[in-house]
Amino acid sequence: MTSHLMPTYATASATFVRGRGTILWDTEGKRYLDFLGGMAVVCLGHAHPAVAAAVAEQARTLVHVSNFYGSLPGERLAAELDTLLGGDGLVFFANSGAEANECAIKLARKRGGSGKHVVISALGSNHGRTLATLHASGEPAKHRTYQPLPEGFRHVPWHDLDALATAFDPTVGAVLLEPVQGAAGVRPATAEYLHGVRRLCDEYSALLIMDEVQTGLGRTGRWFGHQHFGVRPDVVTVAKALGNGVPIGACWARREVANSFTTGDHATTFGGQPLASSAGLAVLSELRRIDAPASARRAGERLARGLRGLAGVREVRGLGLLVAAELADGHDADEVSDRALAAGLVVNAVTDTALRFAPPLTVTDDEIDEALAILGGVLA
Ligand SMILES: *Cc1c(COP(=O)(O)O)cnc(C)c1O
Repeated sequence: MTSHLMPTYATASATFVRGRGTILWDTEGKRYLDFLGGMAVVCLGHAHPAVAAAVAEQARTLVHVSNFYGSLPGERLAAELDTLLGGDGLVFFANSGAEANECAIKLARKRGGSGKHVVISALGSNHGRTLATLHASGEPAKHRTYQPLPEGFRHVPWHDLDALATAFDPTVGAVLLEPVQGAAGVRPATAEYLHGVRRLCDEYSALLIMDEVQTGLGRTGRWFGHQHFGVRPDVVTVAKALGNGVPIGACWARREVANSFTTGDHATTFGGQPLASSAGLAVLSELRRIDAPASARRAGERLARGLRGLAGVREVRGLGLLVAAELADGHDADEVSDRALAAGLVVNAVTDTALRFAPPLTVTDDEIDEALAILGGVLA
């Protein structure tokens, strides 16, 4: 059958129809180990029973109400996210990572006002694909097609404090950064850098927004990636893992910053609805039960150690269970990921020369060892 989907994605090399934990099955019944996890989305593994039960129960109870009215699951989820982020903040719910960042950018503009609207972000970053978040993303090649883009974005080299200081002026309302640059090939920040960023933000009364869409909720071995570096952001965005696959995003801000918004300043139809919020509540409860940060640290160490031991791997980077393997000369990451897929392992060629791994935080030692064996065979 010919596809009726717009040609925005490469032709699918596999079509998955069922999953359980770290395992996926395709239309032919072939089994795969999923070490991509839907791109750091499926933090608890596929078809997680507690999330499935919560979604089914909420679907039978109340799926959606307008944001003109209250939502108990949404209120509860906001409170739980706030607790994880240290308290005294407020949450806006969206439906994706880009929308969570869009909220953060609008909040920065509302707070800064006209003339203090510029957002600085880093080259190599990915903050989403809406027009504003596309411009915030430090990927100039992707900007060209869509000119003119919304104004007020400035890019600096990643992890270069001098460049950031030079780019700063009183028109800057916010700095938007990932604690670990994911799409750039899994490149963690350092405490020195982020503390320097915080100082510059304070000096110019600009917000520090941490994009934790990929790194949030235990993935890096802490509840949030920025917590590795002891830096206090003003705004934090999350999405990917929050619903374990059910679409949901959230923008958290310190109360004083969040209160820059007043009624009517921002809105979305689906954001914070009971169905997605119930998924989020089940996910957070389960992540706490398994001590997600500790699970990510343990599994991440085993995976990184194994990768370092493979011939054909030159360098291993990452934090917790967000890991990249830089391949030795002569290996093409796309080709390696295609061969791994054929051999039953789902991984992502994050750059031409590196593979990215973001398996469920519930991945077992045996599954890690099996994935390493498959990859070792492919690289040999
Ligand atoms: C995936 C991602 C986004 C965009 O999220 P969408 O849900 O695809 O809109 C934004 N920021 C980071 C760091 C991401 O990894």
